[in-house]
Amino acid sequence: MTRPIKAFVDTKALKANLSCVRHKSAQSQVLSVVKANAYGHGIERVFEGLKSSDGFGVLEVCEAHVLRDLGFRGPIVLLEGVFGPRELEDCSRLQLWHAVHCSEQIDWLSRHKTHKAHRVFLKMNSGMNRLGFKPAQFKSVWSRLNALPQVEEISLMTHFSDADLPGGVQLQQSLFEHHAQDLIGERSLANSAALFLNPLDNALSQDWVRVGIALYGGSVNYPSQTSSDWDLKPVMSFRSKVIATQDLKAGDTVGYGSTFTATQPMKIGIVACGYADGYPRSASTGTPILVNGHLTQTLGRVSMDMLTVDLSPLPQLGQIDPVGAEVTLWGAAQTGERLDIDVVAHHAKTLAYELMCGLATRVPFEVIDSPD
Ligand SMILES: *Cc1c(COP(=O)(O)O)cnc(C)c1O
Repeated sequence: MTRPIKAFVDTKALKANLSCVRHKSAQSQVLSVVKANAYGHGIERVFEGLKSSDGFGVLEVCEAHVLRDLGFRGPIVLLEGVFGPRELEDCSRLQLWHAVHCSEQIDWLSRHKTHKAHRVFLKMNSGMNRLGFKPAQFKSVWSRLNALPQVEEISLMTHFSDADLPGGVQLQQSLFEHHAQDLIGERSLANSAALFLNPLDNALSQDWVRVGIALYGGSVNYPSQTSSDWDLKPVMSFRSKVIATQDLKAGDTVGYGSTFTATQPMKIGIVACGYADGYPRSASTGTPILVNGHLTQTLGRVSMDMLTVDLSPLPQLGQIDPVGAEVTLWGAAQTGERLDIDVVAHHAKTLAYELMCGLATRVPFEVIDSPD
């Protein structure tokens, strides 16, 4: 037998989450964000579940290439636009829409030779202070873009810094509306959190919502609300097995640094999963984990290829040999019990986004269509 670790991508969960997004966004079209190789899930693996999206948002031209090769003919938006003038040729060839967030990108576009004018998403920096033009410049930049023969249509976009907090979009939203009010073009403002915390708000959803994390089943505002509260289904399940056990007596310690000490006799399981697989090393003793669908906790430090679980809350495992028991690091157990990736991320002082994106290439994947 090979090493028992595996990640699963659930097509049915993707479809359910996409339909949940559609219910919240009413009239707007959905750009499914598949940057970072679909948040670590693999664009090829999520495509079946997301192919009914109105469009896709990507970071890199190679991701757009994959989508076109899979047969997707609809809109694909480069969310940060091109990183150099050569990529404009890819945009022309693959019919990509692209963000325009700085004057250099406009200069490149003005020198670009194309027989087909481009659709661009002009980005306003409404307060995030990452990418985009200042609100006061927005109108003049729009006019400059609009005068270029290389530009067919301009859409207007901005991105929120605090969309996961109550009222977190108001200031940026009003700035955007004020400085874009006379400009023609479709609007795109909301990410997952902005959409879920302000559902059916037409001023916010507008023409295009750009959703990522919700499609993959992460909560948009954990720990205030969980993915179940939002009726989102986990798409990625990360599982392995117990490969050995140890019986500890009081005073015995576990793992590097001996950070956990047994206070009484106990049985522990050694799991084939470590930080080199993408399980966070920062998840210390007490991180929730499922063994055969039962909730227990990790003990001691995560090492490169292994981690340790407490088998003492699982007396039923005493009857059988725990070696070979299924371990769910996050997502769904084979028997359906759930451990939210947000919970694990929270224990590791990070976000579901980072855990999803961080699965190592050595972890094999399987696409499944879960039972209802
Ligand atoms: C990643 C990204 C999104 C999606 O964000 P989620 O929080 O995952 O919904 C939306 N817009 C832009 C510009 C992004 O870079």
